[in-house]
Amino acid sequence: MKTIGLLGGMSCQSSAEYYRIINESVQARLGGHHNARSLMLSVDFDEIESLQRAGKWSRIAEILQRAARQLENGGADFLVICSNTCHKSAPQIELAISIPLLHIADATAEAIRARGMQTVALLGTSFTMEEEFYRGRLQSRHGLTVLIPDAVERAEVHRVIFDELCHGELCDASRRAYQRIIDGLKTRGAEAVVLGCTEISLLIHPADSALPVFDTTRIHAARAVDFALA
Ligand code: GLU
Repeated sequence: MKTIGLLGGMSCQSSAEYYRIINESVQARLGGHHNARSLMLSVDFDEIESLQRAGKWSRIAEILQRAARQLENGGADFLVICSNTCHKSAPQIELAISIPLLHIADATAEAIRARGMQTVALLGTSFTMEEEFYRGRLQSRHGLTVLIPDAVERAEVHRVIFDELCHGELCDASRRAYQRIIDGLKTRGAEAVVLGCTEISLLIHPADSALPVFDTTRIHAARAVDFALA
């Protein structure tokens, strides 16, 4: 079994989900007293979040490069960044390490393709919904059509992630707002919704959504387990 390197803390709420899902999945597959071999290095999210707001992405890349090297030096055989947004720094992180990085958008796109779907809605931080590194990758590298909410709705999706979900707060009013946004994206032709932020699945479960969900946390964690056991 390979050792999974988890670059976490973005936020700690979803890092705990990765840890739980990965260990439960290895236990389900191998039985006995098995769990995953893993290392998690959590960065301090207060620093990352302030730098994101200030647009200081090169500083974020430096912090994540250092953390990734620490995971490699600690014995990780491959790397998983436990945040969609922080994949904005994936190219720089890959340059800093010699172990493979399992990209969350690639794993998600492959899961969508495996279900034979073409047009998906994307919910996440404004960076993830609007920028090339994520939305663009789903479209140009994987040929998907990606619909995003309108500007007012995007601001609300983003606000709920940082003001509530990253603090572990789950509000019914926010769940209803997300449900309305998903309904609108369904009307516009989406076949499914990508929960493209690793905290959203804390708020929105498959039964809450008018569209089938692709939960990036679960998909990415499952990919890590497949890779670790291959
Ligand atoms: N967990 C997040 C994501 O998947 C948001 C926190 C962050 O900005 O890294 O995008």
